[in-house]
Amino acid sequence: MTRRYIVVGNGPAGVSAAETIRRHDGAGVVTIVGDEKVPFYSRPGLAYLLTGTIPEKMLFSRPETEYARQRLQREVGAVQAIDRGGHRVTLQGGRTLPYDRLLLAVGARALRPRIPGIELEGVVSLDNLEDARRILRLARRARRACVVGGGITAVELAEGLAAQHLETHYLMRKDRYWGGVLEPAESALIEDRLTGERIRLHRQTDLAAVVGRRGRVAAVETQSGERLPCDLLAVAIGTAPRVELARQAGLATGRGILTDAEFRTEDPDIFAAGDVAEVFDPATGEHVLDSLWSVAIEQGRAAGQNLAGAAQPYRRQAPFNVTRIGGVTTTLIGAVGSGGRDDDLVALARGDSQAWRQRLDAFAVVSDEGANRVRLHLGREHVVGAMVMGDQTLSRPLQQMIRDRVDIRPVRERLLRDPAHMAQVVLSLANPEAHGAR
Ligand SMILES: Cc1cc2nc3c(=O)[nH]c(=O)nc-3n(C[C@H](O)[C@H](O)[C@H](O)COP(=O)(O)OP(=O)(O)OC[C@H]3O[C@@H](n4cnc5c(N)ncnc54)[C@H](O)[C@@H]3O)c2cc1C
Repeated sequence: MTRRYIVVGNGPAGVSAAETIRRHDGAGVVTIVGDEKVPFYSRPGLAYLLTGTIPEKMLFSRPETEYARQRLQREVGAVQAIDRGGHRVTLQGGRTLPYDRLLLAVGARALRPRIPGIELEGVVSLDNLEDARRILRLARRARRACVVGGGITAVELAEGLAAQHLETHYLMRKDRYWGGVLEPAESALIEDRLTGERIRLHRQTDLAAVVGRRGRVAAVETQSGERLPCDLLAVAIGTAPRVELARQAGLATGRGILTDAEFRTEDPDIFAAGDVAEVFDPATGEHVLDSLWSVAIEQGRAAGQNLAGAAQPYRRQAPFNVTRIGGVTTTLIGAVGSGGRDDDLVALARGDSQAWRQRLDAFAVVSDEGANRVRLHLGREHVVGAMVMGDQTLSRPLQQMIRDRVDIRPVRERLLRDPAHMAQVVLSLANPEAHGAR
Protein backbone atom coordinates (compact mmCIF):
# COMPACT_ATOMS: atom_id res chain seq x y z
CA MET A 1 0.00 0.00 0.00
CA THR A 2 1.34 3.47 -0.89
CA ARG A 3 1.50 5.55 2.25
CA ARG A 4 0.34 9.20 2.20
CA TYR A 5 2.34 11.55 4.40
CA ILE A 6 1.39 15.14 5.14
CA VAL A 7 3.92 17.49 6.73
CA VAL A 8 2.42 20.78 7.94
CA GLY A 9 5.11 23.49 8.07
CA ASN A 10 7.76 24.44 5.55
CA GLY A 11 10.49 25.31 8.09
CA PRO A 12 13.62 23.30 8.99
CA ALA A 13 11.72 20.64 11.00
CA GLY A 14 9.14 20.07 8.23
CA VAL A 15 11.58 20.09 5.32
CA SER A 16 14.16 17.83 6.98
CA ALA A 17 11.35 15.44 7.99
CA ALA A 18 9.94 15.32 4.44
CA GLU A 19 13.40 14.68 2.96
CA THR A 20 14.04 11.91 5.48
CA ILE A 21 10.68 10.29 4.76
CA ARG A 22 11.54 10.30 1.06
CA ARG A 23 14.89 8.60 1.76
CA HIS A 24 13.17 5.87 3.81
CA ASP A 25 10.07 5.40 1.69
CA GLY A 26 10.71 5.85 -2.02
CA ALA A 27 7.12 5.02 -2.99
CA GLY A 28 5.19 7.14 -0.44
CA VAL A 29 3.36 10.32 -1.43
CA VAL A 30 4.91 13.14 0.63
CA THR A 31 3.15 16.51 0.72
CA ILE A 32 4.48 19.61 2.52
CA VAL A 33 1.81 22.18 3.31
CA GLY A 34 3.12 25.62 4.27
CA ASP A 35 1.31 28.93 4.65
CA GLU A 36 4.25 31.05 3.43
CA LYS A 37 4.43 31.54 -0.36
CA VAL A 38 8.23 31.59 -0.48
CA PRO A 39 10.30 28.37 -0.55
CA PHE A 40 12.36 27.22 2.46
CA TYR A 41 14.57 30.00 3.88
CA SER A 42 16.82 30.79 6.87
CA ARG A 43 14.87 32.36 9.70
CA PRO A 44 18.01 33.27 11.75
CA GLY A 45 19.20 35.05 8.57
CA LEU A 46 16.34 37.58 8.91
CA ALA A 47 18.44 39.52 11.43
CA TYR A 48 21.15 40.03 8.77
CA LEU A 49 18.51 41.16 6.29
CA LEU A 50 17.42 43.87 8.76
CA THR A 51 20.99 45.11 9.24
CA GLY A 52 21.47 45.15 5.46
CA THR A 53 24.38 42.69 5.76
CA ILE A 54 22.85 40.30 3.20
CA PRO A 55 20.37 40.69 0.34
CA GLU A 56 17.06 38.79 0.55
CA LYS A 57 18.10 36.19 -2.01
CA MET A 58 20.83 34.92 0.33
CA LEU A 59 18.17 33.63 2.75
CA PHE A 60 17.16 30.94 0.27
CA SER A 61 19.49 27.94 0.35
CA ARG A 62 17.34 25.78 -1.97
CA PRO A 63 15.52 26.62 -5.16
CA GLU A 64 11.79 25.94 -5.51
CA THR A 65 12.70 23.10 -7.94
CA GLU A 66 14.30 21.14 -5.09
CA TYR A 67 10.87 19.93 -3.88
CA ALA A 68 10.08 18.38 -7.27
CA ARG A 69 13.59 16.91 -7.56
CA GLN A 70 12.96 14.97 -4.36
CA ARG A 71 9.38 14.18 -5.44
CA LEU A 72 7.93 16.21 -2.57
CA GLN A 73 4.56 17.78 -3.35
CA ARG A 74 4.24 21.35 -2.14
CA GLU A 75 0.95 22.99 -1.19
CA VAL A 76 0.86 26.67 -0.30
CA GLY A 77 -1.91 27.31 2.19
CA ALA A 78 -2.85 27.14 5.85
CA VAL A 79 -4.15 23.95 7.41
CA GLN A 80 -7.20 24.91 9.42
CA ALA A 81 -8.39 21.63 10.92
CA ILE A 82 -7.47 18.00 11.43
CA ASP A 83 -10.13 15.30 11.18
CA ARG A 84 -8.48 12.49 13.12
CA GLY A 85 -11.28 9.96 12.54
CA GLY A 86 -11.40 10.61 8.78
CA HIS A 87 -7.57 10.93 8.52
CA ARG A 88 -7.73 14.20 6.59
CA VAL A 89 -6.74 17.85 7.00
CA THR A 90 -8.76 20.82 5.80
CA LEU A 91 -6.98 23.71 4.09
CA GLN A 92 -8.10 27.32 4.15
CA GLY A 93 -10.74 27.51 1.39
CA GLY A 94 -12.21 24.13 2.33
CA ARG A 95 -10.15 21.67 0.28
CA THR A 96 -9.24 18.48 2.16
CA LEU A 97 -6.17 16.25 1.88
CA PRO A 98 -6.13 12.66 3.16
CA TYR A 99 -3.19 11.27 5.18
CA ASP A 100 -1.98 8.04 6.68
CA ARG A 101 0.71 9.79 8.75
CA LEU A 102 0.71 13.48 9.69
CA LEU A 103 3.53 15.65 11.07
CA LEU A 104 2.83 19.01 12.70
CA ALA A 105 5.94 21.20 12.32
CA VAL A 106 4.19 24.56 12.50
CA GLY A 107 6.73 26.41 14.69
CA ALA A 108 6.06 29.19 17.20
CA ARG A 109 4.83 32.77 17.04
CA ALA A 110 6.02 35.91 18.84
CA LEU A 111 4.01 36.92 21.90
CA ARG A 112 2.75 40.47 22.42
CA PRO A 113 2.33 42.10 25.83
CA ARG A 114 -1.28 42.76 26.81
CA ILE A 115 -1.14 46.53 27.12
CA PRO A 116 -3.25 49.34 25.68
CA GLY A 117 -2.31 50.31 22.12
CA ILE A 118 -0.50 47.05 21.23
CA GLU A 119 -2.69 46.64 18.10
CA LEU A 120 -1.58 49.99 16.60
CA GLU A 121 0.08 50.14 13.16
CA GLY A 122 3.83 50.30 13.78
CA VAL A 123 4.02 47.64 16.52
CA VAL A 124 6.14 44.85 15.02
CA SER A 125 7.71 41.51 15.90
CA LEU A 126 9.93 39.20 13.85
CA ASP A 127 8.54 35.76 13.06
CA ASN A 128 9.07 35.43 9.32
CA LEU A 129 10.20 37.03 6.07
CA GLU A 130 6.91 38.95 5.70
CA ASP A 131 7.58 40.59 9.11
CA ALA A 132 11.14 41.51 8.11
CA ARG A 133 9.89 43.10 4.87
CA ARG A 134 7.24 45.03 6.81
CA ILE A 135 9.83 46.29 9.33
CA LEU A 136 12.10 47.48 6.51
CA ARG A 137 9.14 49.22 4.82
CA LEU A 138 8.04 50.96 8.03
CA ALA A 139 11.63 51.89 8.91
CA ARG A 140 11.92 53.92 5.68
CA ARG A 141 9.24 56.33 6.96
CA ALA A 142 10.21 56.26 10.65
CA ARG A 143 12.68 58.34 12.66
CA ARG A 144 12.66 56.81 16.10
CA ALA A 145 12.11 53.24 17.36
CA CYS A 146 11.68 51.57 20.74
CA VAL A 147 12.48 47.90 21.38
CA VAL A 148 11.27 45.78 24.30
CA GLY A 149 12.07 42.18 25.19
CA GLY A 150 15.11 39.99 25.70
CA GLY A 151 17.17 37.15 24.31
CA ILE A 152 18.74 37.23 20.87
CA THR A 153 15.82 38.60 18.85
CA ALA A 154 15.38 41.80 20.89
CA VAL A 155 19.00 42.74 20.29
CA GLU A 156 18.74 41.74 16.62
CA LEU A 157 15.74 44.03 16.23
CA ALA A 158 17.52 46.91 17.96
CA GLU A 159 20.61 46.48 15.80
CA GLY A 160 18.53 46.15 12.65
CA LEU A 161 16.60 49.35 13.35
CA ALA A 162 19.77 51.26 14.26
CA ALA A 163 21.36 50.03 11.01
CA GLN A 164 18.32 51.45 9.18
CA HIS A 165 19.34 54.85 10.67
CA LEU A 166 16.53 55.05 13.24
CA GLU A 167 17.25 56.58 16.62
CA THR A 168 16.83 53.36 18.60
CA HIS A 169 15.90 53.00 22.28
CA TYR A 170 16.13 49.59 24.00
CA LEU A 171 13.97 49.36 27.13
CA MET A 172 15.02 46.85 29.82
CA ARG A 173 12.72 46.09 32.73
CA LYS A 174 15.53 45.67 35.26
CA ASP A 175 19.28 46.31 35.34
CA ARG A 176 20.81 44.13 32.69
CA TYR A 177 20.43 42.23 29.44
CA TRP A 178 19.41 38.50 29.34
CA GLY A 179 19.94 37.77 33.04
CA GLY A 180 18.69 34.16 32.80
CA VAL A 181 21.55 33.11 30.56
CA LEU A 182 24.35 35.70 30.83
CA GLU A 183 26.43 36.61 33.86
CA PRO A 184 26.65 40.33 34.72
CA ALA A 185 30.05 40.77 33.01
CA GLU A 186 28.65 39.17 29.84
CA SER A 187 25.55 41.37 29.87
CA ALA A 188 27.85 44.39 30.29
CA LEU A 189 29.95 43.30 27.30
CA ILE A 190 26.85 43.19 25.06
CA GLU A 191 25.40 46.42 26.47
CA ASP A 192 28.69 48.25 25.75
CA ARG A 193 28.58 47.04 22.15
CA LEU A 194 24.98 48.19 21.76
CA THR A 195 25.84 51.60 23.14
CA GLY A 196 28.74 51.70 20.66
CA GLU A 197 26.17 51.16 17.89
CA ARG A 198 24.33 54.27 19.18
CA ILE A 199 21.48 52.23 20.69
CA ARG A 200 20.21 54.03 23.79
CA LEU A 201 19.66 51.72 26.76
CA HIS A 202 16.92 52.48 29.30
CA ARG A 203 17.28 50.35 32.45
CA GLN A 204 14.49 49.85 35.02
CA THR A 205 12.03 50.85 32.31
CA ASP A 206 8.83 48.86 31.96
CA LEU A 207 6.40 49.41 29.11
CA ALA A 208 2.89 50.40 30.23
CA ALA A 209 1.10 51.45 27.02
CA VAL A 210 1.55 52.33 23.37
CA VAL A 211 0.22 55.75 22.50
CA GLY A 212 -1.26 56.26 19.02
CA ARG A 213 -2.09 59.08 16.66
CA ARG A 214 -4.49 58.37 13.77
CA GLY A 215 -4.11 54.60 14.34
CA ARG A 216 -0.30 54.63 14.26
CA VAL A 217 2.33 54.43 17.00
CA ALA A 218 3.32 57.89 18.22
CA ALA A 219 5.00 57.10 21.57
CA VAL A 220 5.37 54.54 24.33
CA GLU A 221 4.49 55.21 27.92
CA THR A 222 6.48 53.58 30.75
CA GLN A 223 5.23 52.36 34.14
CA SER A 224 6.81 55.44 35.75
CA GLY A 225 4.76 57.72 33.49
CA GLU A 226 7.58 58.74 31.15
CA ARG A 227 6.62 59.18 27.49
CA LEU A 228 9.12 58.28 24.75
CA PRO A 229 8.07 59.48 21.28
CA CYS A 230 8.60 56.85 18.54
CA ASP A 231 7.10 55.73 15.23
CA LEU A 232 7.91 52.06 15.65
CA LEU A 233 7.76 49.63 18.58
CA ALA A 234 9.51 46.25 18.14
CA VAL A 235 8.54 43.50 20.56
CA ALA A 236 10.50 40.31 21.40
CA ILE A 237 9.26 39.13 24.81
CA GLY A 238 9.20 35.41 23.93
CA THR A 239 7.37 32.93 21.75
CA ALA A 240 4.40 30.58 21.98
CA PRO A 241 4.33 27.26 20.09
CA ARG A 242 1.44 27.18 17.60
CA VAL A 243 -0.62 24.53 19.41
CA GLU A 244 -4.09 25.55 18.15
CA LEU A 245 -4.45 22.87 15.44
CA ALA A 246 -3.46 20.13 17.87
CA ARG A 247 -5.76 21.49 20.60
CA GLN A 248 -8.75 21.67 18.25
CA ALA A 249 -8.04 18.05 17.30
CA GLY A 250 -8.12 17.07 20.99
CA LEU A 251 -4.41 16.22 21.26
CA ALA A 252 -2.58 16.76 24.57
CA THR A 253 -0.67 20.03 24.80
CA GLY A 254 1.31 21.76 27.51
CA ARG A 255 3.36 24.75 26.42
CA GLY A 256 3.84 22.85 23.14
CA ILE A 257 2.33 19.74 21.56
CA LEU A 258 3.26 16.89 23.88
CA THR A 259 5.06 13.97 22.21
CA ASP A 260 6.90 10.86 23.29
CA ALA A 261 10.60 10.36 22.55
CA GLU A 262 9.69 9.26 19.01
CA PHE A 263 7.74 12.50 18.37
CA ARG A 264 4.39 10.72 18.43
CA THR A 265 1.44 12.53 19.96
CA GLU A 266 -1.19 10.48 21.74
CA ASP A 267 -2.65 9.75 18.26
CA PRO A 268 -0.34 7.07 16.79
CA ASP A 269 -0.62 8.56 13.27
CA ILE A 270 0.11 12.18 14.26
CA PHE A 271 3.60 13.43 15.12
CA ALA A 272 5.04 16.84 16.06
CA ALA A 273 8.60 18.25 15.83
CA GLY A 274 10.54 21.52 15.98
CA ASP A 275 9.58 24.69 17.87
CA VAL A 276 5.99 23.50 18.32
CA ALA A 277 6.87 20.21 20.02
CA GLU A 278 7.41 19.57 23.70
CA VAL A 279 9.34 16.33 23.38
CA PHE A 280 9.82 13.72 26.10
CA ASP A 281 13.47 13.35 27.02
CA PRO A 282 14.10 9.94 28.63
CA ALA A 283 17.41 11.20 30.11
CA THR A 284 15.65 13.75 32.34
CA GLY A 285 12.13 12.28 32.40
CA GLU A 286 10.76 15.69 31.32
CA HIS A 287 9.17 17.21 28.25
CA VAL A 288 11.46 19.89 26.78
CA LEU A 289 11.01 22.86 24.50
CA ASP A 290 13.68 24.42 22.28
CA SER A 291 13.63 27.21 19.73
CA LEU A 292 16.78 26.38 17.82
CA TRP A 293 17.45 25.91 14.12
CA SER A 294 19.86 22.96 14.56
CA VAL A 295 17.48 21.21 16.99
CA ALA A 296 14.55 21.66 14.56
CA ILE A 297 16.59 19.97 11.81
CA GLU A 298 17.69 17.13 14.10
CA GLN A 299 14.15 16.59 15.35
CA GLY A 300 12.73 16.74 11.81
CA ARG A 301 15.16 14.05 10.68
CA ALA A 302 14.40 11.78 13.62
CA ALA A 303 10.63 12.36 13.32
CA GLY A 304 10.80 11.66 9.57
CA GLN A 305 12.34 8.24 10.26
CA ASN A 306 9.57 7.45 12.73
CA LEU A 307 6.82 8.55 10.35
CA ALA A 308 8.31 6.19 7.77
CA GLY A 309 8.12 3.39 10.34
CA ALA A 310 11.66 3.15 11.71
CA ALA A 311 10.78 3.33 15.48
CA GLN A 312 13.84 5.48 16.13
CA PRO A 313 13.99 7.10 19.60
CA TYR A 314 15.42 10.63 19.55
CA ARG A 315 18.83 10.95 21.22
CA ARG A 316 18.79 14.50 22.45
CA GLN A 317 22.17 16.25 22.10
CA ALA A 318 23.20 19.22 24.23
CA PRO A 319 21.46 22.06 22.35
CA PHE A 320 23.76 24.72 20.95
CA ASN A 321 23.61 28.03 19.16
CA VAL A 322 26.42 29.93 17.46
CA THR A 323 25.22 33.45 16.86
CA ARG A 324 26.13 37.12 17.01
CA ILE A 325 24.75 39.13 19.90
CA GLY A 326 25.54 42.82 19.77
CA GLY A 327 28.22 42.02 17.20
CA VAL A 328 29.92 39.55 19.58
CA THR A 329 30.12 36.03 18.15
CA THR A 330 28.74 33.83 20.90
CA THR A 331 28.38 30.07 21.29
CA LEU A 332 26.02 28.66 23.89
CA ILE A 333 26.06 24.91 24.56
CA GLY A 334 24.16 22.78 27.07
CA ALA A 335 23.29 23.85 30.63
CA VAL A 336 24.76 27.34 30.59
CA GLY A 337 22.16 29.44 32.43
CA SER A 338 23.62 31.93 34.90
CA GLY A 339 20.87 31.36 37.47
CA GLY A 340 19.68 34.95 37.01
CA ARG A 341 16.16 36.02 36.04
CA ASP A 342 14.87 36.62 32.53
CA ASP A 343 13.15 39.88 33.41
CA ASP A 344 12.50 40.87 29.80
CA LEU A 345 11.09 37.51 28.64
CA VAL A 346 7.75 35.93 29.47
CA ALA A 347 8.52 32.69 27.58
CA LEU A 348 11.29 30.97 25.63
CA ALA A 349 12.96 33.35 23.16
CA ARG A 350 14.07 32.56 19.59
CA GLY A 351 17.46 30.86 19.37
CA ASP A 352 16.95 29.74 22.97
CA SER A 353 16.65 26.43 24.81
CA GLN A 354 14.95 25.42 28.00
CA ALA A 355 17.99 23.18 28.59
CA TRP A 356 20.20 26.26 29.06
CA ARG A 357 18.39 26.99 32.32
CA GLN A 358 18.67 23.44 33.69
CA ARG A 359 20.02 23.44 37.25
CA LEU A 360 22.74 20.80 37.20
CA ASP A 361 25.26 20.01 39.89
CA ALA A 362 28.16 21.92 38.33
CA PHE A 363 30.86 24.52 39.03
CA ALA A 364 31.30 27.47 36.71
CA VAL A 365 34.86 28.47 35.76
CA VAL A 366 35.61 31.53 33.66
CA SER A 367 38.50 32.60 31.51
CA ASP A 368 38.08 36.31 30.91
CA GLU A 369 40.27 38.36 28.59
CA GLY A 370 38.06 41.40 28.09
CA ALA A 371 36.21 40.93 24.81
CA ASN A 372 37.06 37.22 24.76
CA ARG A 373 35.42 35.15 27.43
CA VAL A 374 34.83 31.43 28.02
CA ARG A 375 32.60 30.07 30.77
CA LEU A 376 32.59 26.33 31.45
CA HIS A 377 30.16 24.48 33.69
CA LEU A 378 31.96 21.47 35.11
CA GLY A 379 29.99 18.48 36.31
CA ARG A 380 31.76 15.71 38.22
CA GLU A 381 32.83 13.84 35.09
CA HIS A 382 31.83 16.00 32.12
CA VAL A 383 31.52 19.55 30.93
CA VAL A 384 27.73 20.11 31.06
CA GLY A 385 27.58 23.59 29.53
CA ALA A 386 29.77 26.22 27.90
CA MET A 387 29.58 29.77 26.66
CA VAL A 388 32.22 31.17 24.31
CA MET A 389 32.19 34.90 23.53
CA GLY A 390 34.51 36.62 21.06
CA ASP A 391 37.40 34.39 19.95
CA GLN A 392 35.75 31.12 18.85
CA THR A 393 38.81 28.81 18.95
CA LEU A 394 37.20 26.71 21.69
CA SER A 395 33.68 26.64 20.23
CA ARG A 396 34.00 23.46 18.12
CA PRO A 397 36.17 21.50 20.58
CA LEU A 398 33.68 22.28 23.37
CA GLN A 399 30.66 21.33 21.24
CA GLN A 400 32.43 18.04 20.58
CA MET A 401 33.45 17.48 24.21
CA ILE A 402 29.95 18.11 25.51
CA ARG A 403 28.30 16.01 22.79
CA ASP A 404 30.71 13.07 23.29
CA ARG A 405 30.62 13.41 27.09
CA VAL A 406 34.43 13.41 27.27
CA ASP A 407 35.70 12.36 30.70
CA ILE A 408 37.25 15.43 32.36
CA ARG A 409 38.26 13.83 35.66
CA PRO A 410 42.01 13.90 34.82
CA VAL A 411 41.91 17.70 34.32
CA ARG A 412 38.97 18.85 36.43
CA GLU A 413 41.09 20.02 39.39
CA ARG A 414 43.41 21.94 37.07
CA LEU A 415 40.48 23.67 35.36
CA LEU A 416 39.01 24.67 38.71
CA ARG A 417 42.33 25.91 40.06
CA ASP A 418 43.73 27.55 36.99
CA PRO A 419 41.10 28.79 34.51
CA ALA A 420 43.73 30.91 32.72
CA HIS A 421 45.01 27.67 31.13
CA MET A 422 41.54 26.62 30.05
CA ALA A 423 42.27 26.84 26.31
CA GLN A 424 45.31 24.58 26.52
CA VAL A 425 43.45 22.01 28.63
CA VAL A 426 40.34 21.99 26.43
CA LEU A 427 42.36 21.66 23.23
CA SER A 428 44.43 18.83 24.71
CA LEU A 429 41.27 16.96 25.70
CA ALA A 430 39.60 17.51 22.33
CA ASN A 431 42.71 16.50 20.39
CA PRO A 432 45.13 14.74 22.78
CA GLU A 433 47.70 13.73 20.12
CA ALA A 434 48.21 17.24 18.73
CA HIS A 435 48.46 18.87 22.16
CA GLY A 436 50.54 16.40 24.14
CA ALA A 437 49.76 14.79 27.46
CA ARG A 438 47.14 16.06 29.90
C1 LIG B 1 14.40 36.37 13.84
C2 LIG B 1 14.78 34.99 14.26
C3 LIG B 1 16.07 34.74 14.70
C4 LIG B 1 16.44 33.45 15.10
N1 LIG B 1 17.72 33.25 15.49
C5 LIG B 1 18.13 31.99 15.76
C6 LIG B 1 19.50 31.71 16.06
O1 LIG B 1 20.35 32.60 16.13
N2 LIG B 1 19.84 30.43 16.28
C7 LIG B 1 18.95 29.41 16.26
O2 LIG B 1 19.33 28.26 16.47
N3 LIG B 1 17.63 29.65 16.01
C8 LIG B 1 17.21 30.91 15.76
N4 LIG B 1 15.89 31.15 15.48
C9 LIG B 1 14.92 30.08 15.70
C10 LIG B 1 14.81 29.11 14.54
O3 LIG B 1 14.60 29.80 13.35
C11 LIG B 1 13.63 28.18 14.85
O4 LIG B 1 13.98 27.40 16.00
C12 LIG B 1 13.33 27.24 13.69
O5 LIG B 1 13.00 27.96 12.53
C13 LIG B 1 12.16 26.30 14.07
O6 LIG B 1 11.86 25.49 12.99
P1 LIG B 1 10.41 24.84 12.79
O7 LIG B 1 10.51 24.09 11.50
O8 LIG B 1 10.02 24.11 14.01
O9 LIG B 1 9.41 26.06 12.66
P2 LIG B 1 9.41 27.32 11.69
O10 LIG B 1 10.76 27.57 11.12
O11 LIG B 1 8.74 28.40 12.45
O12 LIG B 1 8.47 26.86 10.48
C14 LIG B 1 7.10 26.60 10.66
C15 LIG B 1 6.37 26.89 9.37
O13 LIG B 1 5.01 26.43 9.48
C16 LIG B 1 4.14 27.41 8.95
N5 LIG B 1 2.79 27.21 9.52
C17 LIG B 1 2.34 27.55 10.75
N6 LIG B 1 1.04 27.19 10.90
C18 LIG B 1 0.67 26.63 9.73
C19 LIG B 1 -0.55 26.08 9.26
N7 LIG B 1 -1.64 26.01 10.05
N8 LIG B 1 -0.61 25.63 7.99
C20 LIG B 1 0.48 25.66 7.18
N9 LIG B 1 1.68 26.17 7.58
C21 LIG B 1 1.78 26.64 8.84
C22 LIG B 1 4.80 28.70 9.37
O14 LIG B 1 4.33 29.80 8.64
C23 LIG B 1 6.27 28.38 9.06
O15 LIG B 1 6.55 28.60 7.71
C24 LIG B 1 15.50 32.42 15.07
C25 LIG B 1 14.20 32.66 14.61
C26 LIG B 1 13.83 33.93 14.21
C27 LIG B 1 12.44 34.19 13.72
